[in-house]
Amino acid sequence: MKKYIGKSVVKGIAVGRIYWYKKQNYEAVKTEVLDTEAERERFESAVETAKKQLTVLYEDALDRLGEEHAMIFEIHKMMLEDEDYLDAVKNVINEGLNGEYAVSVAEEQFAEMFASMDDEYMKARAADIRDISKRVINILAGIGEDGIHTDEPVIVVAEDLTPSETVKMDKEKILAFVTVKGSSNSHTAILARSMNLPSLVNTKMELKEEMNGKVAVVDGFNGEFIVEPEEDILQEMISRKNQWIADLKGLEQLKGKENVTSDGRKINLYANIGSVNDVDAALEADAGGIGLFRSEFLYLGRNDYPSEEEQFESYKTVLEKMNGKKVIIRTLDIGADKKVDYFKLEPEENPAMGYRAIRICLDRPEIFITQLRAIYRASAYGTAAIMFPMIVSVNEIIRIKEIVGQVKEKLLAEGFRMGEVELGIMVETPAAAVISDELAKEVDFFSIGTNDLTQYTLAVDRQNQKLESTCDTHHPAVLRLIEMTVANGHKEGIWVGICGELAADTELTHTFLDMGVDELSVSAANVLKVRKAIRDI
Ligand code: PEP
Ligand code: MG
Repeated sequence: MKKYIGKSVVKGIAVGRIYWYKKQNYEAVKTEVLDTEAERERFESAVETAKKQLTVLYEDALDRLGEEHAMIFEIHKMMLEDEDYLDAVKNVINEGLNGEYAVSVAEEQFAEMFASMDDEYMKARAADIRDISKRVINILAGIGEDGIHTDEPVIVVAEDLTPSETVKMDKEKILAFVTVKGSSNSHTAILARSMNLPSLVNTKMELKEEMNGKVAVVDGFNGEFIVEPEEDILQEMISRKNQWIADLKGLEQLKGKENVTSDGRKINLYANIGSVNDVDAALEADAGGIGLFRSEFLYLGRNDYPSEEEQFESYKTVLEKMNGKKVIIRTLDIGADKKVDYFKLEPEENPAMGYRAIRICLDRPEIFITQLRAIYRASAYGTAAIMFPMIVSVNEIIRIKEIVGQVKEKLLAEGFRMGEVELGIMVETPAAAVISDELAKEVDFFSIGTNDLTQYTLAVDRQNQKLESTCDTHHPAVLRLIEMTVANGHKEGIWVGICGELAADTELTHTFLDMGVDELSVSAANVLKVRKAIRDI
């Protein structure tokens, strides 16, 4: 048994097998092997696995995209049966070298050969050779395809996880997350919260191959990751897990009840979501609306911009599912830790304070307009509101409103129906909080993003795990900015909510109510917990 200590970002207990999620950019390293016959067999078995994967991909593509698009997987399978290619790999293994390296040698040799051909069709096969070789190398190295591949739900253990990697994973297959790196306010932690899976970040451990498949326990209450627990500990953890699930069930009796204090003060309690799939959990938790739809997650984990049509479908589905309850869609907040290759953003010294969010949208209005068109078209199907991230000035809002005006005018001319849409801003920079008296004159609501507001106010990088202990989330500077923003909003007659992670901190629920906060938006998993805190006041 081995116990590792991490920083808990989602409470709860999970018991299951470990799945080591390795990064995709693996490079084959040359090592010597003693048993070349065993290595050849390992290679042959990896080829068989690759072919099985390709069959699944073929059938899936055939169903979803048709024969024309599915054919490529058949071609890849045939390439993996090519004797010359297979022999080229085996010849290198026979020299006493490892399979991963041998495949990479054959890959180079064949890719170059195809690339040097005159025929355009044959030239293009170089990319296929690289593709099939990468697939086999990854299998040999134990690296899954994008996402995780397992039959039973597992505890995902990783060095670190980016938001893009996390969104690609099938939630049904995950029991918990444990990462060596990461901080509690990172978007990966936020995603883990939205999935409501016990999770630890900043876990002091060295990842080792032999961990894979071992039984382990994640204790998100005490920040512990126990690998191969002794029988008595395992039994204790299973019974604590059952107790935790029973407690969660206990909260369910609050479903359908109001968010009201004993002296009659009511508040809206909404849920944060990152995708259409999260809506069910929000409804299940009896959230009164969606207080933050992080629309940028629609842009992550793909190779190209989502089209107006695709976005329209997503927003429409969320609005329809929420059946008239308010849905606040935040326009895309790409940049900083939310990286998307096809945006072709240049590396920056300080990405959190760089070219991101509304700054990109105002600089590249074609991206912004596509998103606004999709939201306004979807607004006919429910109660949509839009909010804009990373605002620092009144001028930005004026420019946004000009663009919004043009978008609406064009949609009207094209004959689209639209609903009434409130326009608000995230107050997540100290600048916005300080000039909230002026900003309040321009918008219908404020939603305070305490994650960024805290990082910028305290000059504490939310991604930096070393600063976890120095980051005081209840710092008076942050609380005063929140109080000031609420007061300034109310002076202009607009409502003010909080959608950062602090909204779910029940130690502050009373304080927020005293400040006059009108809405709290939290992950679905926290809705009933916060409702209880409100009703206990
Ligand atoms: C915030 O900054 O508090 C917020 C809600 O936005 P995000 O966490 O997506 O940056
Ligand atoms: Mg933010």
